[in-house]
Amino acid sequence: MTEQTNHYDIVVIGSGPAGFTAAIYAVRGGASTALFGGVAPGGQLLLTMEIENYPGFVDPVVGADLMGKMLKQATRLGARVLQESITSVDLSARPFKLTSGGGQQYTAGALIIATGAQARWLGLPSEQKYSGKGVSGCATCDGFFFRGKEVCVVGGGDTAAEDALFLTKFASKVYLVHRRDKLRASFRLQEKLKANPKVEIIYDHIPEEFLGAEKLTAVSLKHVKTGAPRRLDVTGAFIAIGHTPATELVKGKLALDESGYIAADSHTATSVPGVYAAGDVMDTRYKQAIVAAGSGCKAAMEALLYLEEQDK
Ligand code: NAP
Repeated sequence: MTEQTNHYDIVVIGSGPAGFTAAIYAVRGGASTALFGGVAPGGQLLLTMEIENYPGFVDPVVGADLMGKMLKQATRLGARVLQESITSVDLSARPFKLTSGGGQQYTAGALIIATGAQARWLGLPSEQKYSGKGVSGCATCDGFFFRGKEVCVVGGGDTAAEDALFLTKFASKVYLVHRRDKLRASFRLQEKLKANPKVEIIYDHIPEEFLGAEKLTAVSLKHVKTGAPRRLDVTGAFIAIGHTPATELVKGKLALDESGYIAADSHTATSVPGVYAAGDVMDTRYKQAIVAAGSGCKAAMEALLYLEEQDK
């Protein structure tokens, strides 16, 4: 395996736990490796308050610190981490051709797409104002901080239902705010919600404003049919209205599933030989850092095997 200028055996696009784990395994497998991390490497964990379910950390670790450690580890091992975005890829021939936002050309023997999925937000200005100060996109990450408090979850799908149930472990009361008169969540989850005395489902309402001083103290809602206002005095608001996988780069070039995620097999292989997908961009189900890291490991091992086969 060789490194020429701007050619790498393995290129990783994306800098969350999937991307960094892929880069760590790729470079330790003897491949010249570049990771394109965008202008602020770290992915979604940069938005997380504290993480205490990532094994190996006795005390909670701040998302940005964990990602900083992964970056240092990948760099120490010899991966080249570029603070650049890849804006177009040509997967029609090997080596694959990549173009960065600055117009630089790169080539790759194998490619790992780990561009993630962003939690969707409602788009209210006050939602951003209280992000990390009560408004969260991840109940698993932040629920623990709301022990004994009243919180709300916005959304009506499986994620919102699971988040609401998860939050009942900590919160004294969980309002589930949904914009329609029927939940989208599975029957099983709906039954669990209805059986849980801490959960109150508020149908036909959408948040209008997040309110507070330094931190969130209330959410004002609007009835979608009557326009009637309602106020919830909550210190936590969890937005669970779905995720959008970051697949713009590969649309029309790699097969996507019906939800728009990259279609990948259990070995992370995509529809194009030599291209692998890891992390939330191919995960419709778990969306956890540790799962993303695991799939990044798999993708790198598969990419190394692929390169070995090509060299024969
Ligand atoms: P989802 O199924 O797309 O549900 C999103 C929910 O948010 C819907 O109820 C939707 O309302 C609501 N919503 C969307 N935009 C909104 C807005 N602007 N304002 C207010 N509400 C809005 O997303 P998800 O729950 O994250 O699930 C994603 C996929 O993962 C699904 O296939 C799901 O089955 C799967 N999943 C499975 C499990 C499990 O099996 N244990 C757990 C989690 C997720 P409407 O209903 O009106 O459209």
